[in-house]
Amino acid sequence: MTYFETKKYIKESLLQICKEYADYEAEKIMISVFGKDRKELSLCYREEAPDRSSEIEAIIKRRKSGAPLSYIIGKTDFFGLSLNVSNACLTPRADTEVICEKAIEFLKNKKCADVLDICTGSGCIALAVAANTDSLVDALDISEKAIEIAEKNAKGTFLQDKVNFSICDVLSDDFLKITKKYDLIISNPPYIPTKDIENLSEEVKKEPISALDGGEDGLVFYRRFLETLPNMLKKGGKIIFEIGYDQKEDMENLISKYGYKHEFFYDYSKNIRGVIIDV
Ligand code: GLN
Repeated sequence: MTYFETKKYIKESLLQICKEYADYEAEKIMISVFGKDRKELSLCYREEAPDRSSEIEAIIKRRKSGAPLSYIIGKTDFFGLSLNVSNACLTPRADTEVICEKAIEFLKNKKCADVLDICTGSGCIALAVAANTDSLVDALDISEKAIEIAEKNAKGTFLQDKVNFSICDVLSDDFLKITKKYDLIISNPPYIPTKDIENLSEEVKKEPISALDGGEDGLVFYRRFLETLPNMLKKGGKIIFEIGYDQKEDMENLISKYGYKHEFFYDYSKNIRGVIIDV
């Protein structure tokens, strides 16, 4: 089979489960299986491809059983970076890119800003911010395995001198021992209410529940953060949270207890996705 025929075969095999994303996913699988980038692939589509049928069949089988593509090929793209992912962390979502945009906008004229990213997972937000601003980013996660992936991503993107990943349970007393002050604190914490976890898609349920479950009402982390983060900010510093599309009212109520100035913003699908807080 030629490269073109191989891609067509993968796309057709995935059509039923991936629908309009089948072509995109087929290309990602081709890139992974043949070790060529997008451009190299586009130049050889008419050529005969080496036989990788058993590997391809195994990928199609796993994908059809509901495993996210990013876990199967171990990679995903986020904010122009190619990142490693595994089932130790959430696959970075396109929706989360707006959080990075807001952070970059706030940091754009600042020299050597100090940034803290909490619940970093794959390190996606920390790395996108480090790559696009003059800042040093500290990033925390409770999971040792997630921190390993984040560190691998820092090396893979040549950003290891601008980010510093550490294991920390932000709900524990260890978090209170941090004395450093930051210009910007960002977090995309787990925010799905526990009772809603069982209704998530099978694909999302393959991701670590600890990265999704935000406690009974989904707000456990935000409560903790609103209590503790203001003391960790430099003067004029800001906080940015990703929030669920239906959490605007809950956040409004939480923030109003403190009287902080704040502004909600939308993702590319026009859902509420985040809030910037001025303390
Ligand atoms: N936005 C994620 C989802 O849709 C949830 C991420 C989170 O809890 N931080 O699955």
